[in-house]
Parts: sequence; C-alpha cells; structure tokens
Amino acid sequence: MFDDEFEDGHFFDDDIEDIDEEDGSVFLETEEKKEVPITKYVCQNCQATFCSPVHEKVDRCIFCNQKNIEVSDSVENKTIYWIPFAKKEEEMLKDYRKKTFWNPLIPFLFKSKKTRQAIRKIYLSVFLANISYHGDIQFVASDAKEINENKVKKIENQKYEVDQNVHFEYKNVFLNTSSKIDSKIFDAIVDYNPDHLREGFPEEEKSFLYLEGDVLINEIAAKNREKVSKHALGIVRQNIKHSLKKLKQDNTVIQFENTKAIWVPVYYLMIRYRKKEYYYIMNGENGKSNMSIPVGLWETVVFSLLVCTIISVFSFFIARFL
Ligand SMILES: [Zn+2]
Repeated sequence: MFDDEFEDGHFFDDDIEDIDEEDGSVFLETEEKKEVPITKYVCQNCQATFCSPVHEKVDRCIFCNQKNIEVSDSVENKTIYWIPFAKKEEEMLKDYRKKTFWNPLIPFLFKSKKTRQAIRKIYLSVFLANISYHGDIQFVASDAKEINENKVKKIENQKYEVDQNVHFEYKNVFLNTSSKIDSKIFDAIVDYNPDHLREGFPEEEKSFLYLEGDVLINEIAAKNREKVSKHALGIVRQNIKHSLKKLKQDNTVIQFENTKAIWVPVYYLMIRYRKKEYYYIMNGENGKSNMSIPVGLWETVVFSLLVCTIISVFSFFIARFL
C-alpha cells in the first residue's frame, strides 16, 4: 500500500484546496456536484449504518443479520465517487470454496453450505488520500569497533549524529473508516486502482448498499499517521549505514491532502459456525480476498498425525535404501 514511488493522482479535482495546517489532521469536504438522494438505515442492534439510493429496501443488517433496522429521517444528497465491481459473484464463491475446501485445518462442518449467510455486495465508504511525510530527523548512530591495544582487545563505540531531511509522498492511500471492518483485513485487500474511480451514480447497478464510515476522523488520521511514520522511519533507518541508530529528534509532519470519500466494491460473506461469526471479504475490483477462519482441534490432530505418518514412512524408506 505504501509504495515509495508514486504517480500523480490525476483524477483529483483542481478545485479541492490543499491543506496547509501544521498537523494536517483536517479532512476536506469536497465540492458538491451531481447529487443523489440517499436514505440511511441504522441497525438498532449493532449500530451499523447503511446507505442506499431511495429505491433500495433494507430489511436485514449486513453484519449481525438482525431485522431491527430503522430508517433514518434524514435523506441527504451526496456526490458519489465510486469504483465499479469487476468481479462476479460466481468468482467470489469459487475463491471462497478454494480457500476453505482445500484447507485441511478448517473444520468440515464449517465448509458446509449451511453455515453460509447471504452474500452481500456492498460498497465500503472509505477515504482516499495523499499523505505527505516530511521534516527533519536526527539520529544518534554508532559502530562498535574492535581495537587491539597492547595486545588487549577492546570494543570502542564511535558516535555520530546523523541529520536527515526526509520527504515521502504516499499517493492514493485508502483509509478504512468503518469499525465494522477489521483494518488488518481491509489492508490485505485494499489495493484498488484509483484510475478506475468514477464520479456520479452507478447507473448499471439496480440495487446496492454502501456502508457508512463510523470511525472519528481524528482516529483515522492518528492510526494512519502511525502507519506512515513506521514505514517511512523504517526506510530512513535502513539507509543509515551504521550498526546502531537511535532516534533523537523527530521534527516531521504528516499531512493528509486531497482527501475524498469514495465507495469501494466488496463482496462480503458471513459464516456462522458454532454460534460465532466469521467473515470472508473480497475486493470486488481485483479479486483479492481474505477471511477469518476457525481452526478445528480434531482437524489439527488428524492433519498432524497424517503428516507424521508420511514423514516416518519416508524416513523408513530412505534409511533402508540409502
Ligand atoms: Zn447490525
């Protein structure tokens, strides 16, 4: 996700102002253009908020599958930026089967059709941003040197102060805005191609839902700031050619620029197994997928025994014929 190289985010509108704030924690509202009426649905059980164009009827929650959905009074107009689905539902099912069926550690019952809840085709409301990390950093570096002094070996540490002026630009970073979507799982499928971004209503979709973000903007910023500085500092450290290096002063600034709320396509499948929920998620644009799985005790024992047997048989033959 965080590539050092980048290309210009050419689809950004020129009329979006850049942020020049010290800590860059402000996300900009984009200018409203084509407007689409949106109805909000709030799950009374888990508080997930779904939105949809008015003709969509929502009766069950995507996450907890409860029927306790309330239609919010507010119908708002929104400019929609979205990435279309390129993967079909069959492709998703094929991938899901491949992932589960061939995994010997997943309980057999888990693989049965009965555990599967409905497949949801949803758009996640995420932020797309350019992130800039720049400023001065000072390291104290040292190299341990072995010195032979009057036939006595001594270790000497020579210290250096290393000043670095760094500038990293991360273009088109997708930021998770929903507490319903595990950020680790989101990061694993997140490499959408922003070149496919479209503006306006997804006309070809007869019915669709999108999940509204519910994480506070400051929290999203803080999380991603941490991620970016970890990545950038890692690279800076690698480039300091001394064995030991300690961060002494960090005067860097992280800014979020050209932030815009967009919808990214996702297939979402909930699996209910032994009263617990697991989920499978697929990037609807490029088919990258991830899922949370239970590991069966019985399956683990059988699998380990099988592996042990195969190894012993092989060892036996190798010992005998070599
Ligand atoms: Zn719910």
